Amino acid sequence: MPIPADVRPENTPWPTWPLIMRTSSAHEEGGDRVFSVNTEKFVGDAAGNVQALSLHEVTMVDGRFEKVPGSERELPAQLVFLAMGFTGVDKSSDLLDELGTVVGPRGTVARDAAWKSTVDGVFVAGDAGRGQSLIVWAIAEGRACAAAVDAYLTGHTQLPAPINPTTMALIAR
Ligand SMILES: Cc1cc2nc3c(=O)[nH]c(=O)nc-3n(C[C@H](O)[C@H](O)[C@H](O)COP(=O)(O)OP(=O)(O)OC[C@H]3O[C@@H](n4cnc5c(N)ncnc54)[C@H](O)[C@@H]3O)c2cc1C
Repeated sequence: MPIPADVRPENTPWPTWPLIMRTSSAHEEGGDRVFSVNTEKFVGDAAGNVQALSLHEVTMVDGRFEKVPGSERELPAQLVFLAMGFTGVDKSSDLLDELGTVVGPRGTVARDAAWKSTVDGVFVAGDAGRGQSLIVWAIAEGRACAAAVDAYLTGHTQLPAPINPTTMALIAR
């Protein structure tokens, strides 16, 4: 992503979260932040030790990142930490395979408008279905999914269903 503005941009008016440049105490401890770049690969030595990141600059064109021609360069690195949140459902156990659920390209479990996975009687809520998100969404999804399960089991429900699986946050424009 490009470096954020220092003042609240027009597309994130109050009360939405302002997308501005932030510098925390951790940033002040040192290090350089690099913006509008995409890492293509790690460069290693013959022994398999990482030596550099190979990257290029990007620019946003019609909502997609495009490579800036001629911007390729290497960033020396002896150690790489991948600081990522949710990168897909946990595949360290056989649970999803045993259930027979379908995991999509974004690493989330496929589901329909009634919170059902592709397997009868298996429902999906929270990050597993929505992808990387927030606790408030997980709570709302859990409640709505519980109502869907109740309807599935009993034929009706009086439980609250605050959202549906595709509800998105309202972004003012
Ligand atoms: C580093 C980080 C920081 C975050 N900070 C914030 C924040 O400040 N505010 C905010 O709102 N959100 C934050 N989030 C996002 C928030 O944590 C998630 O959106 C939320 O926890 C999703 O809830 P969930 O119930 O869907 O999934 P989870 O909380 O991930 O719960 C899934 C549970 O299923 C268990 N599980 C997985 N596989 C199996 C299995 N085979 N058998 C049994 N159990 C299994 C897991 O152990 C886990 O306990 C953060 C996330 C991360 C990773």
